[in-house]
Amino acid sequence: MFNRLKQFMYGRYGSDQLSMALIILAFVISFITILIGIPFLNLISYIPLGFVIFRTFSRNISKRYAENQKFLKYYYPIQTKIKTKITRAKDKNNKYYKCKGCGATLRVPKGKGRIDITCPKCRTKFTKRT
Ligand SMILES: [Zn+2]
Repeated sequence: MFNRLKQFMYGRYGSDQLSMALIILAFVISFITILIGIPFLNLISYIPLGFVIFRTFSRNISKRYAENQKFLKYYYPIQTKIKTKITRAKDKNNKYYKCKGCGATLRVPKGKGRIDITCPKCRTKFTKRT
């Protein structure tokens, strides 16, 4: 059984990050349509799923690979941003500010009241509550 599946998938593209994202998109769409209460709109969620099936069994591997690379080009910066936000939200000991002078991120300890912050990069000074 497993061998047959392996044989069937031979020369086919399979799964990647773009397909995973499309599956998540399908779930989000169906969840939203349930929330809104229009069951007919749920059919829209089958569109990304259709793409997933098409891409998984596709024999045009180089084209599917290129699609995924294109997707990752947009996805990785978003992923990095989200990861940074989560890390900072978890950090209970520090506060993060953006320097008005050069845009650098500055980390200062929390709970020190009003403090003067000097950017180590461009020497811009500003006062913040921590
Ligand atoms: Zn600066």
